[in-house]
Amino acid sequence: MTQRPRDAAQQPDWPDRAALDAVVAQLAVLPPLVFAGECDALKERLGAVARGEAFLLQGGDCAETFVDATADSIRNKIKTLLQMAVVLTYGAQVPVVKVGRIAGQFAKPRSADLETRDGVTLPSYRGDAVNGLEFTPESRRPDPGRLLKVYNTSAATLNLVRAFTQGGLADLRQVHSWNQGFVASATAHQKYEVMARDIDRALAFMAAAGVDPEAFRTVDLYSSHEALLLDYERALTRTDSRTGLPYDVSGHLLWVGERTRALDGAHVEFAASIRNPVAVKIGPTTTPDDALALVERLNPDDEPGRLSFVTRMGRDRVRDALPAIVEKVTASGATVAWVCDPMHGNTFEAPDGLKTRRFDDVIDEVLGFFEVHRALGTHPGGIHMELTGDDVTECLGGAGGIGETDLPMRYQTACDPRLNHAQSLELAFLVAEMLADR
Ligand code: PEP
Ligand code: MN
Repeated sequence: MTQRPRDAAQQPDWPDRAALDAVVAQLAVLPPLVFAGECDALKERLGAVARGEAFLLQGGDCAETFVDATADSIRNKIKTLLQMAVVLTYGAQVPVVKVGRIAGQFAKPRSADLETRDGVTLPSYRGDAVNGLEFTPESRRPDPGRLLKVYNTSAATLNLVRAFTQGGLADLRQVHSWNQGFVASATAHQKYEVMARDIDRALAFMAAAGVDPEAFRTVDLYSSHEALLLDYERALTRTDSRTGLPYDVSGHLLWVGERTRALDGAHVEFAASIRNPVAVKIGPTTTPDDALALVERLNPDDEPGRLSFVTRMGRDRVRDALPAIVEKVTASGATVAWVCDPMHGNTFEAPDGLKTRRFDDVIDEVLGFFEVHRALGTHPGGIHMELTGDDVTECLGGAGGIGETDLPMRYQTACDPRLNHAQSLELAFLVAEMLADR
């Protein structure tokens, strides 16, 4: 029997506990989705991030869905991350550690358990891992069978990620082709073409000089998701045969969300029990003491790369709320990677009721994050983004100038609004500038 996380926040109210137990028993004997050695490799790279020797690019959907796990959609997401990474690497001359919110990001915490529409009240959508987005009693009923589908969809997604990143698509000689198939009108795409031409020339020069590094042929793209559904995460936690230590093999990096980061809560307890690299989202109500207690709980041995703090303060709060936290943690001598999530503190409702974010607010929070770290002499370690490779209209602004009346055109997210492909690329150019003169 698995240990039941009775005290855990944000768990679904599964109507059939016996069905859940049966699913958990099946999950517990399925092969790992990732390997402990890969988790250790990512931990090492994140150690470099914490020391200011590399920059983390983490991004993907707010909520992955089963229907969108198509080859096209996954490839577009990967191409977007690769393009952003190349812009950051070339623009700022810094190694970039690439992590997707991908192959496991299927469960969502919600502020309300129930949702009411036109007098009808049903359970809130908690991600495809739990129930369906469609507003009907059948669809909204939590179904544990979905956890098996999460496992299978994650496996299929990871298979494509591995094929794309190791099988030729990620070859730096393909740097131009990553731009193809996207709306070429955007200025960011034109800027990208210019940079890609420079990179081609540099590659041609190196080839002529007899240099042909293997590192140009493939990339490492790691997977990450919020460790929210503890029944699922525990079922996929295995003892590593090399070290005898427990790893959650559902993804390389697991994070604890802003709503579940209570020090004595079940999610932090779970994160403390695994050896993967872990992250905690911290919002503006976090005190410096809260942060320090999380460091002591999650990284007592000060292992480099083990713990990242993903700060999500909001553009209005980042400059006043972040410094005391960074100062206290730094003064304790702890090594954490500081990562900026400029999305979750900047969400609001447009007049027609759609959740959205302004591109300029997102940029301003990243700028504030860089300013704070520069003033303190600490390292702005990376960015954590909600984005898609598709041409959606979910966030306002950017060079494409998406306005409030444009939002309903291609508003496709199952949860929070994502930057579209052009906005993501534009952001990468702006962040590369910040990084270059940090
Ligand atoms: C998220 O990353 O989608 C999320 C829910 O974030 P947070 O926990 O920071 O609110
Ligand atoms: Mn989100």
